[in-house]
Amino acid sequence: MRARACIKCKEYMIIHANNPLNQTKIDNFERIHHLHTLITVDLEEIKDQYQLINNNGSKNVSKETNHSQDSLNKIY
Ligand SMILES: [Zn+2]
Repeated sequence: MRARACIKCKEYMIIHANNPLNQTKIDNFERIHHLHTLITVDLEEIKDQYQLINNNGSKNVSKETNHSQDSLNKIY
C-alpha cells in the first residue's frame, strides 16, 4: 500500500487508487501542504515516523485564530 506524505509536517494519507472519494481527500491534503515537500512512498517506510491523517485532514483554523486573539487581548 502506498501513501502521500508531507516531509515537513510528518503527516500522511493512504492512497486508495480506485476510490474517487480518497482522490478528493488526497487533493485536499496536497492543497494544505502545497508549500511543503510531498512524497509518495510505501506505507511501510513511513508509518512508524509519520502521523496518519484520517478523514478531511482539516484543522480548525478559526479556533486557533480566536485563541491568538485572546492572547493579544491579555497583553494589551
Ligand atoms: Zn505539510
